[in-house]
This record gives sequence, C-alpha cells and structure tokens, in this order.
Amino acid sequence: MADVPSRIAENLARVRQYIAAAAARSGRHASDVTLVAVSKYVDIDAAQTLLDAGCSDLGESRPQELWRKAEALAGSSVRWHLIGHLQRNKVRRTLPHVSLLHACDSLRLLQELDRVATEVSGDMNVLLEVNISGDAAKHGFQPDEMPSVVESLAALKRTHVRGLMGMASLAGNTNEARRNFERLRLLRDELIDLVPSGVELTELSMGMSRDFEGAIEEGATIVRVGSALFEGCEA
Ligand SMILES: *Cc1c(COP(=O)(O)O)cnc(C)c1O
Repeated sequence: MADVPSRIAENLARVRQYIAAAAARSGRHASDVTLVAVSKYVDIDAAQTLLDAGCSDLGESRPQELWRKAEALAGSSVRWHLIGHLQRNKVRRTLPHVSLLHACDSLRLLQELDRVATEVSGDMNVLLEVNISGDAAKHGFQPDEMPSVVESLAALKRTHVRGLMGMASLAGNTNEARRNFERLRLLRDELIDLVPSGVELTELSMGMSRDFEGAIEEGATIVRVGSALFEGCEA
C-alpha cells in the first residue's frame, strides 16, 4: 500500500480532474471552483500534507478542532473555512482564524458576528446556510424566510454575506442531490434582486465527496470535499 502522503496527493489530483471536467461541462474553468479540503477526519500531519500538495483552503466542521489545527499550522498560509454550526458563545475565539464561515444559520448569529467583528475591527465573510433538502435534522434558514433575511443585511457593518451554502438530502440519490442544488441556485437568482446594494451573492457552497460533480454542474463555486481525499489512508 502506498504511503499516506502519496495517497492523498493521488486522491487530490483525481478530485481536481473531476472538478475541472464538471466545470467544463457547466461552461466554466476549474479555477472558477474553489476546493475546500475538509480535514475533519485527519490529524495535523495529514492537513499539512494537503497544504504541501497545494491545497490551501481547509475546512473543519467543529470550531474547537478548527482552533486547534489553526494554532498548530499557524506558520502556514491556510485559508480556514468553518463549515459546521457555530454557537454564539464561540464567535469571539473563532473569528480571527476563519476566512469564510459557511453555515450562518440564524439572524442572532449574524448579529453577534457583526457585533464582535465591529468591536475588534475585523471583517467577517459569511455564507447563509439554507435548508434546501427539507431534512428535519439540518441546520439552516428555511428557503421561504430568505427574502426577509437578505433585506436585513443592510444593517451589518463588518459582516459580508458572500452567498449561500446548502447540503443535499442525506437519504437522496444523485438526482435528488442535483435538484437540491438547482433549488439553491434558483433561490440565489431570486434573492439577487432583493439584496441591499453592496451585497453580492456570488458564492454557492454546495457539493461534498459523493455529489460535488453534480453540484458544480448546477453552479457551485465552492465544493467541500473530505472523504474522497483520504481514500486508502485508513490505518
Ligand atoms: C464533513 C462535511 C463535508 C465533507 O464531507 P465528505 O462527504 O467527507 O466529503 C462537507 N460539508 C460539511 C458541512 C461537512 O460537515
């Protein structure tokens, strides 16, 4: 069996090929899609391997784990993405590490982010998570509350909403995943007419290991891929 670093490098090369092919099918270039490598399954060494292989956008779903890895890799130029739920009492500690927060799922969290960002004179980039699958267990705004949510963005000072994030239904197949992703894109297109001036909903963070190609074909600008990068690395 190949060693872990070369496995990861091979997996990364393969994922990048699939991304490029899917981007081409949607009339775009590979560089139009950001790969966030989700390092939540692996330790610092494997995260370092991803960086060495040229992947500098890393994602974690738990704030504590993001803090830990960010501190351990503090010398490297990583763009950290928090892709999971953030509680308001963890905002202050999280904010300095994160370049994009994917799962902003309540107005209270948005307000707290803006309050802390203003206090520390920092800027916060966020995506609004929308529950596109209808799965009861999922976090996220309901699609029908989004028009009023985006109207409230005018009050934010240092929190910049860059787009939307969504996850396909866990139970669904590839076709259903594509319909979920299409729904997020169409919602974004509708909201563009309602957002306050200065807000652009350019980013669509959608697609994971099992469905990122379909997500790209539906317009994803960011995919969050974990397990596909670590195939064959199990101890
Ligand atoms: C874990 C996770 C991913 C990556 O999932 P894989 O199926 O391992 O690619 C993507 N997005 C979120 C929100 C996650 O929690």
